[in-house]
Amino acid sequence: ALARGSFDSAGAEKRLCALWQVGTLEAFGTFDRAELAAMGALVDYLDLTQKGRMPLIRPPVREAMGGAMQIDAATRRNLELTQALSGGREGSLLAAIDRTATAGGARLLERRIGAPSRDLDEIHARQAAVAHLVAAPRLTADLREALSRAPDMDRALSRLALERGGPRDLAGIRAGLTQGAAIAAMLDCGDVRVLADAARDLTGHDELIDLLDQALVAEPPLLTRDGGFTAPGYDDDLDETRRLRDEGRGVIARMQADYIAETGVTSLKIKHNNVLGYFIETTSTHAERMLAAPLNERFIHRQTTANQIRFTTIELSELETRILNARDRALEIEREIFARLTRAVLDRAGPIGQAARALAEIDLSAGFADLASGQGWTRPKVDASRAFEIEGGRHPVVERALKRKGEAFVANDCALTSGETPAIWLLTGPNMAGKSTFLRQNALIAILAQAGGFVPATRAHIGVVSQLFSRVGAADDLARGRSTFMVEMVETAAILNQADDHALVILDEIGRGTATWDGLSIAWAVMEHLHATNRCRALFATHYHEMTALSARLPGVENATVTVREWEGEVIFLHEVRKGAADRSYGVQVARLAGLPSAVVERARDILHQLESGEDQGAGRPAALLDDLPLFRAAAPIPAPAAPAKTAASAVEDRLRGLNPDAISAREALNLLYELREMLPESPAGSAR
Ligand code: ATP
Repeated sequence: ALARGSFDSAGAEKRLCALWQVGTLEAFGTFDRAELAAMGALVDYLDLTQKGRMPLIRPPVREAMGGAMQIDAATRRNLELTQALSGGREGSLLAAIDRTATAGGARLLERRIGAPSRDLDEIHARQAAVAHLVAAPRLTADLREALSRAPDMDRALSRLALERGGPRDLAGIRAGLTQGAAIAAMLDCGDVRVLADAARDLTGHDELIDLLDQALVAEPPLLTRDGGFTAPGYDDDLDETRRLRDEGRGVIARMQADYIAETGVTSLKIKHNNVLGYFIETTSTHAERMLAAPLNERFIHRQTTANQIRFTTIELSELETRILNARDRALEIEREIFARLTRAVLDRAGPIGQAARALAEIDLSAGFADLASGQGWTRPKVDASRAFEIEGGRHPVVERALKRKGEAFVANDCALTSGETPAIWLLTGPNMAGKSTFLRQNALIAILAQAGGFVPATRAHIGVVSQLFSRVGAADDLARGRSTFMVEMVETAAILNQADDHALVILDEIGRGTATWDGLSIAWAVMEHLHATNRCRALFATHYHEMTALSARLPGVENATVTVREWEGEVIFLHEVRKGAADRSYGVQVARLAGLPSAVVERARDILHQLESGEDQGAGRPAALLDDLPLFRAAAPIPAPAAPAKTAASAVEDRLRGLNPDAISAREALNLLYELREMLPESPAGSAR
């Protein structure tokens, strides 16, 4: 934990000024005290944990409030933006749309779909870049090819800043900037702002490129340790020392020839190992001769092994010292050169970072363009309205999965606007028909549009989405049922409390995690609240066919259904979304497809038939009919409607008033819910139908 002082905004300003070596932070914009305190604490934390070895920190950029579409964690997970629910990247939106050629481009794509913009100028500028490249497929292909050869400058830069870099990182910067200049020259588009800005950021690095070109060999080693990365001709001192070192090696060869002549031992060799350094070696057969006068005056015995005998001479050790000195000196010079080059690179960390960012931006645009051309995606119209009109929309991930199996995806329309009031679509339809797919595809289209890309649709008009919410009802899980339902309700509460009139809300089977009547009542009330209070655009999928009656009562609610056809008792999924309510749910047929024993399916069919005919006869409540089925006889009958009793309602109010929501736990809250429900007058069960 950081000390209080770390969060002091005055101290923070000093720390930040020191970090970026400026007199005042105003150079980067105006920051309020909370922002200064937060930044100061972060820097302090890094300083503490990195033991003074600061990573490269770019000066702060103030992001406009409300600059990005708000997407909460549950929505991210649920829409599988960067990770599939099953874990891993495969199956996520990111995996389906990533056509970037560089690591920087891939990182930028991930950031953009994680935080799509709300700024229309920005969105339009990015779309224009993609459109420009869609119209120039040759250029796009060339750009992507050139990009694929640009190394990750961002990573190289941070390694160098952390003193964990090596010669190869310097070469990476050189190659990145060189490639960047070539890419800038390919881009001739003064009127396309995003590309023109990127081209500008990629030029003007010639001086550094020249320096690195002169200083580094073509393919330097990973580490500085053994040297050998400095190009010949760059440093006179180094060249001279290297010559000495290499000459030494030639001198040794000559020395060996002289010693052979002198001793008459033709197998004599001068060798080198780490223990003895340089030494003279003959086989032990020559020991007697070598150890006797006059040779023993010159050849100093050093070691005898099983088969060899080793010597040195004064000349040889002098030469060795010269060679070693030259080698050490050369390494030292190279280390200095490395430090100098690193400093030159870090001095330009800002512009290099911008160049890396520019490459990522071009890569992202080119990737989007490639995707759009390859998959027939279109440029969406994004404006300040509250429209949400998609024609021929598709789900990029499901479509890709189907294509692998050789199946076609059925494109669907969505129109969530009636006049100026945003509409809510209530989607009913059998299981497996494609409700969830339809819901999610529309959310993904909104994200792609505001990330600046094209969208999988034939036409799209989207009034900028401020917040995106997506929730799936908790599955009926016996073991965890209650707690998952609690989570579902907490998440639903978050939507109802936050969604503004530019939000897009996707609710899939909300209320499913509890008893039918509770679930239906909650779903019903949530829908009314979204319609009347949040006034946002929403897609609402439900199994409760009773809810389709809402469309008659609420002007902004429309029914839609995913069609199926029944043929010889089997359901055929058409995956077509149409206006109107589902006529029935086909749950029994789907159960049969799933391989439920035929006796069970037949029994279910019987029960369903009885229930339905009961309804036709105007029995009103199929629940009454349930009494005739042995299975349900034991269950308590659903209470009959009763007039609301005022006194009970105020008892609930009293209970609520007397409580401090901040002071109770989730479990207590749940118990309280039960308690409150108990206090309510008996609910008019029939009225919801
Ligand atoms: P449940 O109510 O059981 O959750 P659902 O109606 O939400 O089902 P989905 O999960 O969306 O159904 O879709 C089921 C399967 O149907 C998908 O995995 C996909 O293979 C297929 N499918 C969905 N939509 C389409 C479509 N538009 N075109 C082709 N196939 C589709």
